[in-house]
Amino acid sequence: MAPCEDVVTHDHTKPEAERHIEPKTRPCLVCKTPFQSEWSGERVCRRCKSGKIWRSGGVTTQRGR
Ligand SMILES: [Zn+2]
Repeated sequence: MAPCEDVVTHDHTKPEAERHIEPKTRPCLVCKTPFQSEWSGERVCRRCKSGKIWRSGGVTTQRGR
């Protein structure tokens, strides 16, 4: 008979909260340049997001001043 060892087993049942987030290369909606979107909702590349084009709201709306 094996000695009853008091082994502390870390039996933490992890909640399966695995998000289906995988980097995917998709074309940007603004500049149409393939970029790596971090999630499925990311459709605009960072360049355009941080750019003035995205902020103005109008993607193709250029006000000729
Ligand atoms: Zn872009």
